[in-house]
Amino acid sequence: MSILPPHRLDLAGHRRRNGVVPWVAYHGDDGRDRLIAAVEAADLRGRGGGGFPTAVKLRAARSNRSIVVANGCEGDPLSRKDGVLLTLSPHLVLDGLQLAAHAIGAAEAVLCVHAGSPALPSVAAALAEREDRVPVRVAEVPRRYVASEETALVRYLTSGDARPLGKRPRPAERGVRGRPTLVSNVETLAQLASVVLLGPHHYRASRTELVTVTGAVRRPGVVEVAAGTSLAGVLAAAGGEAEPVQAVLAGGTWTADLGGGLTGIATVYALPARDCGLEYTAKVLAFLAAESARQCGPCTFGLPSIAADFAELLDGGPATARLARRLPLLTGRGACAHPDGAARLAASALQVFDADVRAHQADGRCRVPVGVA
Ligand code: SF4
Repeated sequence: MSILPPHRLDLAGHRRRNGVVPWVAYHGDDGRDRLIAAVEAADLRGRGGGGFPTAVKLRAARSNRSIVVANGCEGDPLSRKDGVLLTLSPHLVLDGLQLAAHAIGAAEAVLCVHAGSPALPSVAAALAEREDRVPVRVAEVPRRYVASEETALVRYLTSGDARPLGKRPRPAERGVRGRPTLVSNVETLAQLASVVLLGPHHYRASRTELVTVTGAVRRPGVVEVAAGTSLAGVLAAAGGEAEPVQAVLAGGTWTADLGGGLTGIATVYALPARDCGLEYTAKVLAFLAAESARQCGPCTFGLPSIAADFAELLDGGPATARLARRLPLLTGRGACAHPDGAARLAASALQVFDADVRAHQADGRCRVPVGVA
């Protein structure tokens, strides 16, 4: 069963295509145990970037006062998959949200999207068609990169401040209004519904993932591929290379190896051979520096510094030794993983575009100048 239909499904269309959740099989406390055991047997992992086992998160958030939060915010500007999923298959996500609420014993559910999300009309229409056990409230979250981080959502739903809270306590321990909270990406919830609708073993054998593909491909957009598909296969699913590709930014890390299998990655950007990978990375780092919540040292001082180092590299400056010292200092030091991601991006760029770094330093310009194929 693919999770992304070609056209939007209303409730009747969703039930015809995907089936009806067999609630009777999951009734009561034993049923909750069976539901979480099915998620575990399916080896379902979060599709919001962390890849954490969903069954572990469900067990951790289980309580008689829990809240479940569906995260459809998509802070990464390269990602479109969650918005497309909510637009085309809102009922699969809402089935998954109800199942997650049942599994953890939640009586309250919130679906978060960025303010003004194009998916809002489809979500509103879907909610109007349903009579769910747990009422679902839609919350519009400020359109900022770190506002979609799970502790930022918890803080926003508690106090209206959409900045990350830090690594401890986790939302499952103390989340929205101090209550145990499960925050789950909307694709993860759709996958959870698929586990129940297909059965864990069939699901595991036919598991697919949504990936947003942009850059030098013929049909940029959201594709659904079998888990483990190579990067070359993902580019093929997006119509193949529209022009020669020199490297791929996969889930925030550069690679030139297109043969590697893809699991857990939500975004793929194909960099054309005629573009400068260092220049692209410098722009992304400047964006990440501007988008931080500036609460912690690594973001307030570290991200602008490495963005400036990359700008210096572009001008042929000798910033590589400084970057080698600075990048390890960013990792694991922030209250959230924002600086870790920036450090991984920068380190992978230095490795994959090493020849470009040397060309910039030797000639003050790119090995393959921008605009020359
Ligand atoms: S690491 Fe950065 S983005 Fe994360 S909480 Fe601290 S300042 Fe905010």
